[in-house]
Amino acid sequence: AADLDLISAHVRDVPDFPHPGIIFKDITPLLNHPEAFAVAVRALAAPFRDSGIDHVVGLEARGFIFGAPVAMALGAGFVPARKAGKLPSDTIDQAYDLEYGTATVEIHADAITPGSRVLVVDDVLATGGTGRAAVDLVRKAGGTVVGFSVLMELSALRGREKMPDVEPRTLLSV
Ligand code: 5GP
Repeated sequence: AADLDLISAHVRDVPDFPHPGIIFKDITPLLNHPEAFAVAVRALAAPFRDSGIDHVVGLEARGFIFGAPVAMALGAGFVPARKAGKLPSDTIDQAYDLEYGTATVEIHADAITPGSRVLVVDDVLATGGTGRAAVDLVRKAGGTVVGFSVLMELSALRGREKMPDVEPRTLLSV
């Protein structure tokens, strides 16, 4: 509980970002606090220490920041899942719906081999669209999604309901 208090004390509410009426959860104060950042990384990795994780997939952009140290903590490789057009080599992609329009997430086609055990990491679970697409993408690549580890869940947006097959692990729920 002390760990979770330390984490939540370093997430800042920013009203009206990126649009009027949205309260954005800003995790940059956490990144800038060495102890809180370390505690958060440990807690994201902890449930999966004995899960035989081969790859951690981090979701652009804040999922990179948490996913990379989680991968190191688990002795796993790190795979960036990026927005369309950013990765240089051959990719596998997955489209998903946004509030207005669609988006695409990609990984390198050779990043995950069939049978790989994969943990997906991100900072915030909101509507669940991003996480859902990432899980489907990993499966398309032949990987097994062992878990989805997230710092904070915005529970009113019910993203968890989009991924009953994964059961996200979230450190904080607001
Ligand atoms: P979803 O697809 O679940 O609606 O949105 C989750 C994605 O949007 C995550 O990649 C996350 O980084 C970003 N996101 C949505 N809302 C917030 C927020 O309030 N704070 C932060 N830090 N990220 C957010």
